[in-house]
This record gives sequence, C-alpha cells and structure tokens, in this order.
Amino acid sequence: MKQLLSGNEAVARGAYEAGVKMAVGYPGTPSTEILETMAERHRSVYSQWSPNEKVAFEVGIGASIGGARTLVTMKHVGLNVAADPLMTFAYTGVNGGFVFVSADDPEMHSSQNEQDNRIFARFANIPFLEPADSQESKDMLVAAYEISERFDTPVMLRMTTRISHTMGIVEVIEPLQPQERKFVKNPEKYVMIPSNAKVRHVVVAQRLIDLAKYSEQTPFNYIESNGSKVGIISGGVAYQYAKEVAPQFDYYKIGFGYPLPLEGIRQFVAAHDITLVVEELEPVYEDQIKAAGVKVEGKKYFGALGELSPSRVAKGLKEAGLIDKVVVPEITQEDLFPRPPVLCPGCPHRGAFMALKKLGVAVTGDIGCYTLGVLKPLNALDTCICMGASIGNAIGMEKVQGSATGTVAVIGDSTFFHSGITGLLDAVYNQSNVTVIILDNRATAMTGGQEHPGTGKTLMGEPVGRTDIQELVRALGVKNFEEVDAYDFDATLSCVKRQMATPGPSVILTSRPCVLMPKRIMDEPYQIDLELCNGCSACFRISCPAIAASTETNERGHAKAIIDETLCTGCTLCAQICPTEAILLKSQFAKA
Ligand code: SF4
Ligand code: SF4
Ligand code: SF4
Repeated sequence: MKQLLSGNEAVARGAYEAGVKMAVGYPGTPSTEILETMAERHRSVYSQWSPNEKVAFEVGIGASIGGARTLVTMKHVGLNVAADPLMTFAYTGVNGGFVFVSADDPEMHSSQNEQDNRIFARFANIPFLEPADSQESKDMLVAAYEISERFDTPVMLRMTTRISHTMGIVEVIEPLQPQERKFVKNPEKYVMIPSNAKVRHVVVAQRLIDLAKYSEQTPFNYIESNGSKVGIISGGVAYQYAKEVAPQFDYYKIGFGYPLPLEGIRQFVAAHDITLVVEELEPVYEDQIKAAGVKVEGKKYFGALGELSPSRVAKGLKEAGLIDKVVVPEITQEDLFPRPPVLCPGCPHRGAFMALKKLGVAVTGDIGCYTLGVLKPLNALDTCICMGASIGNAIGMEKVQGSATGTVAVIGDSTFFHSGITGLLDAVYNQSNVTVIILDNRATAMTGGQEHPGTGKTLMGEPVGRTDIQELVRALGVKNFEEVDAYDFDATLSCVKRQMATPGPSVILTSRPCVLMPKRIMDEPYQIDLELCNGCSACFRISCPAIAASTETNERGHAKAIIDETLCTGCTLCAQICPTEAILLKSQFAKA
C-alpha cells in the first residue's frame, strides 16, 4: 500500500514497521512531528516527551539495554544537550536496536546555529544514514535497526528541514516482529568504569573497521551510471538538487554516510575525468575523501554556509565549467507574501517585554516564542545563546557588572524544565542578585504547543499531575517569589521593580497561557475610537499584529491606529497604555 507522507511521518511509520517499542524526544523544529505522529497514528508504540534531549537519550538507552528497539528524536542543537550520554553509549553499544534522529536545520529557519551533525557521528564513532526523500526516510530507519543490532552500536539518522517537511509517496508494509531481546546483566559492557571503557574502546575501533566494509556493499550507497565522464558524489537533499540540475552526469549516491565507502569512491573517481562532491553545509564527505588521497572538489564551488538549492548547485556546476547556463528558475522575494516573525496578537509575553523595555534593564533571553522579543519595536532582549542559558548568562553579567545595573533573565516554562532548573540552582547557591521571569504559557509554544511536565498531560494524552513551578522554585531555595498577571501591565512593571530591588535571586512567574491554546483569553475584541485617538503611536510600539495604521491622520500627519478585530484576542494590553483611552471593547465602542 502507498501513502503520502512527510519525511517526519515516514520516520514514524518506519519506527512502527521496525517493531520499535519506545519513542522518546524533546520537541524541536524540524523534528517535532515524528513523535507527534507516533502518538497520533502508532499508538501501540509507547511515546513520550522528556524534559530535554539528554534525558530523552538516557531514557532511550535504558529501553535499549532493557531489550526494546528504541527511537530518540531531536533537532540538531538537541544533540549538543544529549552529547554526553551519546559519547559513552557509543562505547557500551546496544541490546535492542537504538536509532536517534538528528534533524538538522541548514539556513537556520528556526534555530540559533547551523551545525552539521554528520560531524557528531564521526566524533562519536558511530554510523549515520542520510535519506534523500520520504521513502528513504522510512527504509533507512528500518535498516538502521538491523545495523544497530548487527554491529552493536547506536545509529544516527540525519534528516534536514527539507527532507523532514517535504511529502512523498511511501510504500508501507505491516510491522516486523523483531526477535525478542531480554535484559542480560553485563557490567563489563554497560558499566563504563575506566577498566571496562578501555576494553570497549578497542571494540569501537574494530566496529568501525567492520562498518567500513559494510559501507562498501550496502544498497544505500550506489552508483547511477549515465555514461558521463563527470561524476558527482552526493547525499541527502543535495543529491536531489544535483539530479534536478544535471541528470546527465554519473552519481555516487551516499545514503550510509559514515564510514564512507572509500574503496568504491576511489574506483568511481578513477573512472571519471572530474568528480565533484555536492553536499550541504560542512565538507564532511569531501574532507574524508581528500584525506584518503582521492582527488575531488566541491566546497569551492558550492559553499559551506546556508541551504543549497537547485540554483546554487547549478551556479556551482557552471563555475566548475561543467554546464553552460543556469536555467533553474529563481524564486524571488517579491513572489512571497512578507511575514516578519512577531509575537501573536494577545501573546502573554508582550506585557513582560513592555515592562522590561520601560525599565531599560539588561535582559538575558532564551529559546522560545519570547526570543521574538528581540525584534523591533520591542527590542527587549540582549542575549540568546541556547536552551536554558538565560539564567546563567544573567548570573555572569551580574557578577561582573554588579547588581546596580539590574539583570533580568527571561525563560519559558518548557525551557525552564528543559535546562533552566540548574541555572536557577546556581543563582541560589552563589547568591546572585538576578531576577528570573518564568514566562509560563503552559506549553512548548514555539514548536506548536506540545505538552511538558507542567501541563498536566502526556504526549499520548494521558492526564497526569502537574509539576508546580512555584513549589519547584521554592524547593531550589528561592525565597523571593511572586506570581503576576501578564496582562496587567502596571502590576507586572511594579513586580519587576520590586523584585529587582530585593537582594538575592528572585523569581517572577507570569500566569497566562499561550493564546493559541484551545481557550482564548477573552472573546470580545477591542476597537479604536478615531475621535479619541491622537496618533501618539504608543500602541504601535507594543508590536501587536492586530494593530495597524488607519487612513486617518492627526494634525502632524501621523497615522491614527485601528484594530483588526479578527486578530484581536482582547488581551487588554493596548488599552492599558493608551493615553487617551481611545481603545475600547467592541461593546463599549458601540455604546460610546
Ligand atoms: S504561540 Fe503563544 S506564546 Fe508563542 S507568540 Fe503566539 S501567543 Fe505567544
Ligand atoms: S495609543 Fe491610543 S492614542 Fe495613541 S495611537 Fe494608539 S489608540 Fe491612538
Ligand atoms: S487587546 Fe490590543 S494588544 Fe491585545 S490583542 Fe487586541 S489589539 Fe492586540
């Protein structure tokens, strides 16, 4: 049977077909839909969100050692968080097959950096597979479990944004019944004290030699011969772009990317006048091939920054003198509707940023919707490094600059559970005068509103007890704690002032959920009385997409404001700051 599936859906289907028993991860674009699909369509597999990728990886390791085939998912930066268990799990090896997905984000569509995690697989001495479409995403995942069990190793499936989110036809089959594996005590294999680890390191080295032999004969590395004297070595979405631009050349398609089939590549290169490596981001293949003494070229024509595209590949091939002209149509900016990223109308984060902007303090930021607070006109963030970094950043700034400058860290609820707790513990332990605002919107909102330990529901929809942030914060030793209504601007402003003036670490918890959650805040929208509006533009500066310029102007020619009532959620923030009280509820407006 055939189904139309995105790459992420195909991975989920592959896990189901491979007989996976446990799927675990932390949401992060472009990987999120893998586990969402598991929970929606493949409910016979136990699936869960963990508070962060390291925990997810460790849960997965436990499931694998316990005998189950296991899937762990994350975006590329998540692998930084999970790197610690990965490096040692590469030594212990698996029991039930263990595959983790690294969904890389070339071009940083929704990420803070552009790392190429193929390098991580080499670093950890484990194999990776790199699919080029939805069918391969499923097939490679299933094969990855066989590789994992045969070679006793964790295996990485490296996806990228275009493969994760592009749809394709996939042939689906009934699930396999993998041979049952039981947990067997084996501390020499699973307990990495130095004496055991030294032995396992030798095993890892031999395993790489065995995997290199496998790489030469796996069907995921193959030659497509078109009788050309030009050879292209490529994998993943870069292969699709190259094929689209130059189907006439010969291809060595890489699907099993580490270790590379260097002997096969050597013969392929020898049979061609010129061979180029077309790969996205880092020269991972090119460098290894060159290091083996094989003459290829690549990055000098295609570049190592940002996403490739058919037109970029075509330009590179033209520069190399292999094609005459670039005929791939460019998608110009004008063809697309401009939509700058912005906090939603009624977003509960807006009030806190308005208060912080008014106070003019240094604000260390974190990863989540609230990162958008850095943009004009809010301009409310001064740093953003990685998940959970805001509190540590604030501590460092405060320690060197002194508390007189006033440092505030903002962090979301999901991010606080992910990796903010230890930062706050540091603030308590080292008595930092930071003020931490936990922007509690009751969701992992940036990736689409996934559940977390504070929402009271699991990924599979089971109701569970909520972790109470106030109790948690107090248990960490925080004495100064306040909860504030994020829609009450004056209360938020004075709360931040008060807590900043209080010695020692303090925590402010904002209390309104994300407006995209099933319940809206207030059904009645606001409108603007143009008679009362003086065009002062204060409401424009809060960056609510529901507020726009009207065609009416004041005496200085400045536009008065109007509200798009289909977007307004009635959060009240603009009404609170309007100096002329021109912003009224729709029902009040009708009476006025
Ligand atoms: S999704 Fe929710 S939290 Fe994120 S910007 Fe929109 S309203 Fe705010
Ligand atoms: S804040 Fe009030 S007076 Fe100023 S532009 Fe907006 S609606 Fe008009
Ligand atoms: S009340 Fe004002 S700030 Fe809130 S959503 Fe409506 S227009 Fe935007």
